[in-house]
Amino acid sequence: MRRRRVNRVATISMHTSPLDQPGTGDAGGMNVYIVEAAKRLAQLGVEVEIFTRQTSRDLPPVAEITPGVSVRHVTAGPYEELDKGDLPGQLCGFLSGVLRTEATYDPGRYDVIHSHYWLSGQVGWLAKERWGVPLVHTMHTMAKVKNLLLAEDDRPEPTARVLGEEQVVQVADRLVANTPTEAQELIDLYGAVPGRVEVVNPGVNLSVFQPASKGAARHRLDLPQDAHVLLFVGRVQPLKAPDVLLRAAARMLIDDPSLRPRLVVVCVGGPSGNGLARPSYLTDVAASLGISDVVRIVPPAPQQELADWYRAADVTVVPSHNESFGLVALESQACGTPVAAASVGGLRTAVRDGVSGVLVEGHDPDDWARVLSRFVHRPAWRDTLSTGAVAQAAAFGWSATAARLAEVYAGAMANLYQTPIAVNS
Ligand code: UDP
Repeated sequence: MRRRRVNRVATISMHTSPLDQPGTGDAGGMNVYIVEAAKRLAQLGVEVEIFTRQTSRDLPPVAEITPGVSVRHVTAGPYEELDKGDLPGQLCGFLSGVLRTEATYDPGRYDVIHSHYWLSGQVGWLAKERWGVPLVHTMHTMAKVKNLLLAEDDRPEPTARVLGEEQVVQVADRLVANTPTEAQELIDLYGAVPGRVEVVNPGVNLSVFQPASKGAARHRLDLPQDAHVLLFVGRVQPLKAPDVLLRAAARMLIDDPSLRPRLVVVCVGGPSGNGLARPSYLTDVAASLGISDVVRIVPPAPQQELADWYRAADVTVVPSHNESFGLVALESQACGTPVAAASVGGLRTAVRDGVSGVLVEGHDPDDWARVLSRFVHRPAWRDTLSTGAVAQAAAFGWSATAARLAEVYAGAMANLYQTPIAVNS
């Protein structure tokens, strides 16, 4: 059995850069995952080079995030104004940039490739064959799962993506799933070989996201001390269903108008994707519901500020139609704020129903209003959940994620020439 130490990983993140601010456009949990896991891998002595597409003339060819973690900008297509939907046409250009980079060094620069999202998986597929190293792939989201759970106003994912994902599942030496549920979806929906699927939980940065005074956070954010604060954090897109929170808040105000002077609904994040994700979407929904006075829209915030928003909130609301994991739910709990989350996908792992938050079935605003009213009216119960939330998040650190990833890389390297790999053309 071939077993070498993992010295250097080529991480591929074609469509979004780890240097981007998460919470808007194409930047979200995947960006956070890549950076946090890479930093912890570097602490374990594994160097990580992240390949991403050059999206501005001003970016240097290589940017160091921290010693042992660097970002390599690859030119493929125009720097700006290229829609995610047009990226499949740039796969060849991007791949050639990746191969050219490696060719400038001695052969064997990378021990393993870790690709994120299907576009990068396609690049990893050919790089793996060229370099003779294993491909580890993380889907982050899956078209077939998304299409099964589509919001009413969302568009289905295109066939090209479905086919591309199927190919990557076939050629990858290891598939990393965030949860056992996702592992099962890979097997059931994509025909993944069970022995090649590894569950690795994502984590949360427990030094940034930690409990601290709610009053002080409210003061810093200019929120009244006696407010009932309901918080949404994330990209504004149909999949995340932030409108469910607004509709639930409107319902709460109809049922109990006396709440109005103290209710504050905060939405942190920016527009993303297709369809309803125009910048004014949330403001328009709030206006149409007659609740503009209680809604505060906040642009994407860096993680330190985000920690304050979580601390200031009474509950973080995650009404998504699907989440591969849901980092926002973990971050909120790490700050001691319980979560009301849709009972879907990774949120069932991230949140312990009745212990660190509440899992809600379906997306009926009336049901959500009932749940959120409990958070408003039962502070003692909320405090109990808050204690459970901190304990729940403490079990998910990025160091554990990185240690597991290092094991997965080593396993993939060890088995490289033992398992014949069938490639579907
Ligand atoms: N995020 C952020 N600033 C914002 C909104 C979100 O940094 O204003 C980050 C957030 O901290 C989290 C990530 O974006 O780490 C969102 O991850 P999640 O898994 O919840 O959703 P995804 O974007 O992957 O669908």
